[in-house]
Amino acid sequence: MIPFLDLRAQYSSIKDEIQQAVTGVFESGQFVLGEDVAAFESEFARYVGAAHGIAVNTGTSALHLALLAAGVGPGDEVITVPFTFVATVAAICYTGARPVFVDVDPRSFTLDVAQLEAAITPKTKAILPVHIYGQPADMDPILAIARERNLIVIEDACQAHGAEYRGRRVGSIGDLACFSFYPGKNLGACGEGGLVTTSNARYAETIRMLRDWGQAKKYHHVLRGYNYRMEGLQGAILRVKLRHLEAWTALRRSRAAEYAVFLKAADVVAPPEMSYARHVYHVYAVRTTDRTQLQRTLQSYGVQTGIHYPIPVHLQEAYRDLGYTAGTFPESERAANEVLSLPMYPELSNSQIEIVAAAVKSGERVERVAARAS
Ligand SMILES: *Cc1c(COP(=O)(O)O)cnc(C)c1O
Repeated sequence: MIPFLDLRAQYSSIKDEIQQAVTGVFESGQFVLGEDVAAFESEFARYVGAAHGIAVNTGTSALHLALLAAGVGPGDEVITVPFTFVATVAAICYTGARPVFVDVDPRSFTLDVAQLEAAITPKTKAILPVHIYGQPADMDPILAIARERNLIVIEDACQAHGAEYRGRRVGSIGDLACFSFYPGKNLGACGEGGLVTTSNARYAETIRMLRDWGQAKKYHHVLRGYNYRMEGLQGAILRVKLRHLEAWTALRRSRAAEYAVFLKAADVVAPPEMSYARHVYHVYAVRTTDRTQLQRTLQSYGVQTGIHYPIPVHLQEAYRDLGYTAGTFPESERAANEVLSLPMYPELSNSQIEIVAAAVKSGERVERVAARAS
């Protein structure tokens, strides 16, 4: 069986470091925020090239607080894409603002810049592009339009730790950026975690207060805040894992390159890396017009797959009241019907990739390749 994700393989490779970090937290007793979290904040901010990092409990909270710091609230509109994980849109709704969708580019699956200006209204306050699957959105034209219209740009970088846009790491490009450390993300906690990066000191200070009950100092509540604090254990573990992130990213990228070679002859479209991008392959999604069959074939050869995501947010039942109907965002809807995510993690072996690729190409050849690989 080839699993879709193997978190245990990663754990075995760094078991001693993790254990030491966990012991350190128990010795210090700093279970919420504390020194490890503070150190992780500055180490991660330095890694992406931003001045400030503010750690929170989830990527969703990171999005919520970034939007609040940007001044987004009831009556405002925030532009984003419908082809994303639901949290992007949920966070906009938490603020009382309205999400306004722009379709995605059919190659990158990120915000289609050509359709951005038409979505801007006098109520638009911010643009929230999503670096989906680990591929950055086309940030320069988005920033140019935002500057001209006086809009704030918030990156949803929850799937894109270490991804680069024209040589700059995501997280340092927009006014604010949000990361998730959900266990399956490229940098994953042993539980939940998230972080906002920004180079704006005022935004950073607001978010720092909002995540901890809006306190300027203990029991002095300047803002109506939240309990969105990161746990000490997660901070300590994420510090350890951050040291390995570049090596893991390099492995993901070489696995993706191997897939691309093996899949050349197959009847699927491999994910392109945009010319401006360093893709970090959080998800390796191929496109096929016969997804149900392909998924069934792979399943029969013990290859686990995933679908990210089967329904675009504008067609989700929970967001029906936004008033969007089927056909409004054809590229997002087509992507939702055609994408299939293959196993992707740094520890995936070359022979496993060969088996997956052979299974994609033709079910019959799989046994031969599997026999050769074992
Ligand atoms: C994972 C994810 C989130 C939410 O992060 P959580 O840590 O699960 O709250 C938001 N946006 C995108 C694109 C994600 O993939």
